[in-house]
Amino acid sequence: NLEQKVEITGNDELSNLGTAFNLMTTKLALVEQQRKDFVANVSHELKTPLSAIKLLSESLLHQDQADVSTYREFLKDIDSEVDRLNKIIENLLRLVDLGKNSLELDYQVTYVNYLIENLIRSLKPLADKKSISISFIENEKIQIKLDQIKIQQALTNIISNGIKYTPEGGKVLVSLYSEYEDIVIKIEDNGIGIPKESLPHIFERFYRVDKARARSTGGTGLGLSISQQIIGLHQGSIHVESELGKGTVFYIRLPKSVVRGS
Ligand code: ADP
Repeated sequence: NLEQKVEITGNDELSNLGTAFNLMTTKLALVEQQRKDFVANVSHELKTPLSAIKLLSESLLHQDQADVSTYREFLKDIDSEVDRLNKIIENLLRLVDLGKNSLELDYQVTYVNYLIENLIRSLKPLADKKSISISFIENEKIQIKLDQIKIQQALTNIISNGIKYTPEGGKVLVSLYSEYEDIVIKIEDNGIGIPKESLPHIFERFYRVDKARARSTGGTGLGLSISQQIIGLHQGSIHVESELGKGTVFYIRLPKSVVRGS
């Protein structure tokens, strides 16, 4: 029983051992609970698109006289639910990969400026679709060691969120500067913002402020947990500030010199 507590009094050494044992069982119980929650969440998230596919295919099967355009319409919905399933599974695999203790980062000396410029270039078509202007402010050229592919992934999630959660005609601004021993990448948007009560949860796996809206934007609720993991692996940190209806700012800090993996 993981809840079991050991009570030992009198002998110091024994009582220390007892405390350590109790601490360990509490930790184990927590890990076990997190594992159960994760499996429950994954099953739920996979079941949602599956149920939609089942419903769509069943109703197609039961229509005797459907015309081609009805078939097409239903198949289009099935197709996008399959895409969604794929995206969830891809993100889950990525998270599992990032969680491995043995994971080695492929550190390369990189000009962060160019990395961000390239990213912005690749995300511009997405921003253009919504007439969102996306710009980059850089005060200095900064070179640090990082895993390019992983940091690109982390930043893409956050910048594309800025585009996703900002209405037509809005702005996304990325800035790069150094502060003491860190570099800071600031990603700012003037979009819908995040309610105060949701802020502590947005890095949790599968957490979405508005599940219904997230479905229409294609969100899986995994993007920010992936970004946080990657930044953590680089011994960096991520911080968010937001005001509902005004916009959101993410601050990513990465150490200029890495101690491990350098
Ligand atoms: P998703 O795939 O749903 O975007 P994320 O993990 O990337 O998942 O983000 C979690 C949730 O945080 C989103 O569903 C959204 O509600 C909120 N969020 C993230 N970034 C922003 C932003 N820039 N503006 C407003 N809300 C945001």
